[in-house]
Amino acid sequence: MSKRAKWSKGDSDESKNLPIYQHKAKLQQAVKDNSFLVVTGETGSGKTTQLPQYLHQAGFWNNGKIGITQPRRVAAITVAQRVSQEMHCSLGREVGYQVRFDDCTTQDTVVKYMTDGCLLREILADPVLSQYSVVILDEAHERSLNTDILLGLLKQTLSSPDKASKGRSVPLKVVVMSATLETDKLSVFLGGCPVFTIPGRTFPVTSKFGCAIGPKDTESSVYVKEVVKVTLDIHTSEMAGDILVFLTGQSEIEKACDMLYEKAESIDYRYDVQDRKVEGMLILPLYGSMPTDQQKQIFQPPPPGIRKCVVATNIAATSLTINGIKYIVDSGFVKQLNHNSRVGMDILEVVPISKSEALQRAGRAGRTSAGKCFRIYSQAFWEKCMPEYTVPEIQRTSLTAVILTLKCLGVHDVIRFPYLDRPEERFILEALKRLYQCDAIDRRGKVTRLGELMVEFPLPPGLTRALLQAASLGVEDLLLPVAAMLSVENIFIRPGHPEKQKEADQKHRQLGVQAGSCNDFTMLLSVFEKCKASDAPSAWCKDNYIHWRALKSAFSVETQLREILLRLQQKRDFPMEKFDGNKSELFRRCLCAGYFTNVARRSVGKVFCTMDGHGSMVHIHPSSTLFDQEPQLDWVIFHDLLVTSRIYIRTVCPIRYDWVKDLLPKLHEVDVYELSSVAREEVTDEEVAKWETKEAAKRQTEGSAEDA
Ligand code: ADP
Ligand code: MG
Repeated sequence: MSKRAKWSKGDSDESKNLPIYQHKAKLQQAVKDNSFLVVTGETGSGKTTQLPQYLHQAGFWNNGKIGITQPRRVAAITVAQRVSQEMHCSLGREVGYQVRFDDCTTQDTVVKYMTDGCLLREILADPVLSQYSVVILDEAHERSLNTDILLGLLKQTLSSPDKASKGRSVPLKVVVMSATLETDKLSVFLGGCPVFTIPGRTFPVTSKFGCAIGPKDTESSVYVKEVVKVTLDIHTSEMAGDILVFLTGQSEIEKACDMLYEKAESIDYRYDVQDRKVEGMLILPLYGSMPTDQQKQIFQPPPPGIRKCVVATNIAATSLTINGIKYIVDSGFVKQLNHNSRVGMDILEVVPISKSEALQRAGRAGRTSAGKCFRIYSQAFWEKCMPEYTVPEIQRTSLTAVILTLKCLGVHDVIRFPYLDRPEERFILEALKRLYQCDAIDRRGKVTRLGELMVEFPLPPGLTRALLQAASLGVEDLLLPVAAMLSVENIFIRPGHPEKQKEADQKHRQLGVQAGSCNDFTMLLSVFEKCKASDAPSAWCKDNYIHWRALKSAFSVETQLREILLRLQQKRDFPMEKFDGNKSELFRRCLCAGYFTNVARRSVGKVFCTMDGHGSMVHIHPSSTLFDQEPQLDWVIFHDLLVTSRIYIRTVCPIRYDWVKDLLPKLHEVDVYELSSVAREEVTDEEVAKWETKEAAKRQTEGSAEDA
């Protein structure tokens, strides 16, 4: 790391006004004095933007980087931008950020914002984080899966002195930052470390329940419409002050913004608005995958006489603070990744927020003066549908990727790992089972050579397995673009206007036909290749109703995945196999290697049945190129599920039963009891032999039952 000093020019007047500023010297000292420190304070008090700068000023960077993790990528990027401005340096120099597939750091970077997932990857390569002097785990109250795992890992490393000092000249400092929730629990978990509280000032917020959403309403059109109505009421009848609307995701936010825009246009400000100083409304969306230049506008004060209205996901609840907000509109819902036990997979779904989340949302209106919060849901909804607290991610999503990471870090006993909140054992077992099915671990629960390769890719295990299969057969060019396309936001545009929608569908279908052998994976490959070969790619995308921005990031992701693969292939023991047959079949067989857990077989008519033991009845999603051609298919694999009133499978590919026949037994052959003993301790050869005999006997009886 370069030791070239460049000091920030001291604190600006704006930052001197933040509550944290009064405690600067004490905070610097507290970090010096403790290996673990919990810092807490109201959102907006300056923790995320200021503390790293204070530590920089205190000279910590002389011993290594100051790293700050965020559960959300947008937060990492936006905050890094802000801090680089405050420190008067260009982004990527002294202050930089790293998120999955986007590294904006250089040799000079000493203050590094990153996602918690990125730091977890760094720990894989360097368990004591020798490049860092301080690591700040921010937004710990969010309880994201990766932050929880990092907490456990750092606790483990720092509490064993010989492990902690290995490869380091100065001991690592760990700061855990959290909004005012659960700080005692964090402190106890970290061996009773001190808690530094930044006293905040907040103003009263009055909250009002609505009546539009009762205990049974989860249809997005209902809450989008109601949110728009309430926002317009505020705009026309309340005094000046900006509005922050909480909605669920990109498409709902865009829909609401369109509706707001249309309705706000027709307001006659001479008669319809109570506060004569309000003469217009500036409507701004805010969600994860938004272009960063658009995000900047969010923080700028609106022109005089104009009311700013930000329509955001939960990101505006704690990760980002927007000044000047006086009114909150709370939809009462959030989009959340949950493990769905009905289908045995993680599914992104819209669920009611918790009461503590609702209070947090309301609090955003009371930062600088008294505020008002308008809930569109009823008191009955609050009482009957909203849980007290949000369940930590570790207790509700698939653990496959993190368990593989832990195993690669040498944590063999993943059941007794120090979790802040223990996940249910069956989730851990399910993850082990999935890893075993992907050949990432063996029967002893030890990471295989393949598992070591798999952990290098920031992709879901099934997709990685398929990619590695393709690479071992020398056809990675088929799978790399597909993996990249599945890692970016949806590339297909479906306009709201019915005529345009028809035209878009038509164009997409045509692309499918041109793709030759018709399935959704080859479609992705074909779009990728066609656009890449085009002289005017952005025009080509526009013409074909494809998101150019998404595709452009897919190009970059593909390059990065290729680099990882090349690095691994240069190692001598990269597995290689031979295959004779045609390319289309080869492509699909590689997919089978990773996706055989997602196999479905036609049941009756248009209904398919999954083969993973859950036996869910599923339908091909209308966006699939195979939607109209179902009668020819009997067996398919799919990338993911969408659960509405029906269960849909998306990104689908027809296969032959032959290709998965030998793989399918793997779905059932591991029994949970055995896996749990595998998880707890290393199993002896003898035990494995016993177990294998038992398995063989079981298969034989099953086989004869089937024959009969
Ligand atoms: P905390 O982490 O304690 O919630 P932050 O450090 O995120 O607080 O925010 C401190 C202040 O910095 C807030 O007033 C917020 O509005 C401001 N701020 C943060 N990011 C930006 C940005 N990108 N542009 C302008 N102001 C920002
Ligand atoms: Mg913060």
